[in-house]
Parts: sequence; C-alpha cells; structure tokens
Amino acid sequence: MGRTSRVRRRLHRKSTHEEGNFLPDLYKYMHSKGWKNESQLTVRDFSETGRGICYKQTQINNHDNIIIKVPIKSFITIATLETDDDFKQVFSSVEFSEENRINFQELLALYLCYQNHLQQRSPLYAYLQTIPRSFTNPYFCTLDEMRCLPEELLEKIIAQKTTIKTSYANLRKILATNHCACCGLHFLDVTFTIQLYEWAYFAVNSRTVHLSTNYVTTNNGVFFKKLLNNAPTMALAPFLDMANHSDKINTCPMVIANDKNELEFMIKLERSSLPTKPFEQLYISYGMCTNFRLLTDYGFSLPGNRHEVFTITLSDIEKFIKAGKNGYGYSFHRNKFKFIRDHNLHDAMLIIFDEGMSHNLHLVLHLLFKVESYFPNILSEIAFGDAQQLADVQLELNLLLEYKISEYTTFLQQLSRLNTLTASATMAKNYLTECIEFLKMYIS
Ligand SMILES: [Zn+2]
Repeated sequence: MGRTSRVRRRLHRKSTHEEGNFLPDLYKYMHSKGWKNESQLTVRDFSETGRGICYKQTQINNHDNIIIKVPIKSFITIATLETDDDFKQVFSSVEFSEENRINFQELLALYLCYQNHLQQRSPLYAYLQTIPRSFTNPYFCTLDEMRCLPEELLEKIIAQKTTIKTSYANLRKILATNHCACCGLHFLDVTFTIQLYEWAYFAVNSRTVHLSTNYVTTNNGVFFKKLLNNAPTMALAPFLDMANHSDKINTCPMVIANDKNELEFMIKLERSSLPTKPFEQLYISYGMCTNFRLLTDYGFSLPGNRHEVFTITLSDIEKFIKAGKNGYGYSFHRNKFKFIRDHNLHDAMLIIFDEGMSHNLHLVLHLLFKVESYFPNILSEIAFGDAQQLADVQLELNLLLEYKISEYTTFLQQLSRLNTLTASATMAKNYLTECIEFLKMYIS
C-alpha cells in the first residue's frame, strides 16, 4: 500500500486536482468487476498522509466495522495473468526450466511493466494511473544522499539492489529472444528497462495484499506454474491499495462469499470504532511495522510509532567503546565479543516501544560492562543463568543511546548540507529525526 509523499505533495499542490482525475475511470473499472461501493468510499488528499480513502457519507448501518469490501475479481492475481493471452505470448519461446524459475512478485512486477507499455490499450490503464510514478524509499536516494545514511539503511538498500538486479538479469535472460504481442518489437527493449522494473518491483512490494490461492480460480490452466518457484499468494488490489497505514488501530482482512456467491475481500476494524464523520480518513493496519520496515518497504515513517523497535548492533557497541564513550576506560577483552558472537547473544538487541531494552541487550551490556572475567565458562554461567542476577545497566545504556543520537544527528546535518534533497532523502531525514526522538524519549 502506498502513501504518496507528503513532500511531493507540498511541492506540487497544483497536481492534486489532476491526480483526482483517475477516479471516474477507476470507479468504472471497479464497477465492471462487480463493486457496488455500498459504503460510498472515495479518495481524497489528506494533509497528514497525502492521498487516502474515506467515506462520502455518514455510516449508519455499518455495525460490523467493515472499513472496505471489494470483489476479489477486481484484484490482479495469478488468474488475471493466466487469462491474459497476449502476456503469455511474451513467454512463447521460453523453455521453462528448473534454473530460470522466478517468484510471483517478480512475475507481477513484469506484468506491471507490460501493462505500462500498453498504456491506454491496457485493461488496467485506470488502475495504473493510481500507482505513483515514483516512490520515496531510501532505495531511490542519490549516491550523495546515501553517503549520509546510517549503516542499517545502507545494508538494506544494498540487499534490495542485489535482489532487484539479480531478478532483472534473470528475467532478461529468460526473455532474451521474445517479442511483444502488441507491437512486435523486441520485448526487453520496449517494456523492460531497469528503472521501470525497479518502479514495478516497489509497486508490487508495497501495494499487494496476501490472498490464498484457494480464493483464486485459474480456469485457463496453469501456464505459469512451471515458471514459478513459489505459490502465487499476492494480489494487487485496486482502490484498496490507496488505504494508508496507522499504528493506532488493528484491522483484520478476510474473504467472504456474498449473496451471489461471489468472493469479496474485506477489511474489518477491530477493537475501536469507525470514523463517524464523512471525509475523515479511513486507515488500515499493514501489520506491526517498525519505522525501519515502513521506510524501507513503503517509503514513509510515523512519528511516535507504537510498533517502533530500535535495533542496536554489536558494531554500534564496538564503535561506542572505541569512541571512549563508556566512561569507564575498562579494558574490553576480545574474548567477550567472541563469546557474544559465538552464542548469538547480539541477535535481537532491541529497544522496544513501551517495553524498554530486550533481554539480549541487557545481557550483552552486563557481560561487557559489569563482568570482569573473560573466561568462557564464567561468561556462560552468567549468560545462561538467572536473568535476575543481571546488574542495572541503565547508565551504560543511556550513554550508548546518546552515542547513537549523536551519530544520527551528524547524518541529519550532512543531509541538510546537500543543496537539494530527493523525496526519498526527505523521508530518510524524517526517519532519522523520529529515531532520535524515540531514543531521547527512552533515555528520559
Ligand atoms: Zn508492444
């Protein structure tokens, strides 16, 4: 699901109206798939989030707290691909073999690239118009901007780049000799640049819902079965995918059959009540997402995120000690770090919203700062003994977090020194600011 960039919105206020133009066509598409829109859902720009969904009228009979209900027929699923003969044509001379299998996310991304190439001739043209043309994940930062990002973001960006590049190269290999059914041109040249694939990949990554294959009938056979190395349980969800995420609510997706025995996908609000006034934004929950996850997968982060978990790495602690910030001048034996690594005690060193530090973080700080011995048998006794015996490490933790805050502040300053920032870098800046706020709140 995508939150359009707040920044972009501020820069291009004028385009708001233009963006709204996709709505009549999208309604037409949705109605053609059997959507009744009984609750009178519509799309609006909200100052907090950019585009989002809301009701046009007061809800009176919605006792079941259903936020949205759409026909599964409106989704783009494996069934959509299986019934698209032109798209299947793209694979006409492909030898499906064990080595060149791809996952369903890649196939969906390829499908979006293909529909994008068809433009107005695409049956999904109305839907395509609703997908933002650019995304604000840190993946799309410039090199100069990336130099101002913390290690954990860089590692994630590199992992995403590797995944996408490998996938792209593999698809190019598979489709090397194929031609486009619509224009006869070489498929790779007309529809499939790396930039377009990145766009499609992130669109699929952030805008799909999970849908069991039990709910998808592929009458037209199983053409893609030989190509896929996983179950096609993702679906692009027109209209629904414009609903923004909130950390303040819980929602539950479900599939039901309506009175005509057609399947509908709906999202129910749990344990709270729906907005009563029309044009108030309707949020859904994408799950218990930390800001890191929201930023790297969806391109935004939330202030005061209730699901926030801040991860401390062992390299953070090593750098902290090397910088002489621990205030002890203690000699830290290599054996201790080796012991911690050997027993994976540095996994899940977390600061959790409302809960504080995780056991492993407490343990590692205790071993490093409170234990004089570095003999494995002694360390072992402590690590796997009674957790109650661990000393208070609040002071050391606060110093460590202050060190992280100063590190993040430096990144922020470096970003601010750049002349212009992409929307991605602005989102990364917000993320850094929110990390700092979170750590400060924890220290106080
Ligand atoms: Zn073509």
